[in-house]
Amino acid sequence: MRPARALIDLQALRHNYQLAREISGAKALAVIKADAYGHGAVRCAQALEGQADGFAVACIEEALELRAAGIRAPVLLLEGFFEADELPLIIEHDFWCVVHSLWQLEAIEQATLSKPLTVWLKLDSGMHRVGLHPKDYHDAYQRLLASGKVAKIVLMSHFARADELDSTSSEEQVAVFTAASQGLSAQVSLRNSPSLMGWPNVSSDWVRPGLMLYGATPFGEGQAIDARLQPVMTLESKVICVRELPAGEPVGYGARFVTQKPMRIGVVAMGYADGYPRHAPTGTPVLVAGQRSQLLGRVSMDMLCVDLTDVAEAGLGSTVELWGKNILASEVAAAADTIPYQIFCNLRRVPRLYCGV
Ligand SMILES: *Cc1c(COP(=O)(O)O)cnc(C)c1O
Repeated sequence: MRPARALIDLQALRHNYQLAREISGAKALAVIKADAYGHGAVRCAQALEGQADGFAVACIEEALELRAAGIRAPVLLLEGFFEADELPLIIEHDFWCVVHSLWQLEAIEQATLSKPLTVWLKLDSGMHRVGLHPKDYHDAYQRLLASGKVAKIVLMSHFARADELDSTSSEEQVAVFTAASQGLSAQVSLRNSPSLMGWPNVSSDWVRPGLMLYGATPFGEGQAIDARLQPVMTLESKVICVRELPAGEPVGYGARFVTQKPMRIGVVAMGYADGYPRHAPTGTPVLVAGQRSQLLGRVSMDMLCVDLTDVAEAGLGSTVELWGKNILASEVAAAADTIPYQIFCNLRRVPRLYCGV
């Protein structure tokens, strides 16, 4: 059997959820969209059910998967509905629904609903992706109430630059939100992982942690709080071939790495078809037989090469951690000029094995 696999530590997931709640002092929706950032939405939801105040996903397809697996907790659709004909299913399954655009508001006004909806009314406070314009926000709130089709409204917005601790952007967004929601008496939800971890003064009745649940930091520069996270996923495989090369020999496609001295090289069953980033360059950290080493040459579809020269105890069959509790996903992401969000979401083909159930 091919030795590539992703170990998912559900105990660590619960720890990180608890941490999000503790540092925010708020209710927390566990964001498990995109198959829980590659960790498996159903298994993650099952592990958190009973503990979590609810879940958040990107679309009704993801939400229905949770209900089909028996998850009864509240589930928020972060982009609401894409077409008005999703409304009956939203009602039937008690999903909570973001309203980010006037067309969604109009669709609710025109719909015949058998029960009232819970709406999270989204403001564009400066990111300029989705969300109502501040000048339309009060009016949208009043129209939802007047429609008689809404039981509860939560006010929400989303930060564009909360991972940049030296930017004033988040404070500006809070100011826009505060002004736009003046006089509306409703619960508020503003904070994603970076704002939850990096902006302790932002108040929010509900927080929406995603990345931090999986134990990865959203910050480029390490922050003290990172040490309290427990990485959930360990992506590992084994050395399937060992080569001794003299100086001057190329390794892999494109001869992107050429030995400068005699070297011992391990070939690992892991490649970009598993979601390991193809753009990870020579020098990207890996753990071989418990020791830090480095990637060499180009990542292939099914294999990659690592340096065994200084890891005497490593050889055929040695375990290699690509990321996990020793090699942080954020380190690998930085080396590959991407973000841990993307390397988690890209995971595919490798079997996921769960522990800490
Ligand atoms: C994905 C998402 C989140 C979670 O963000 P993280 O940075 O992963 O914590 C929160 N809110 C919204 C609206 C999202 O789309």
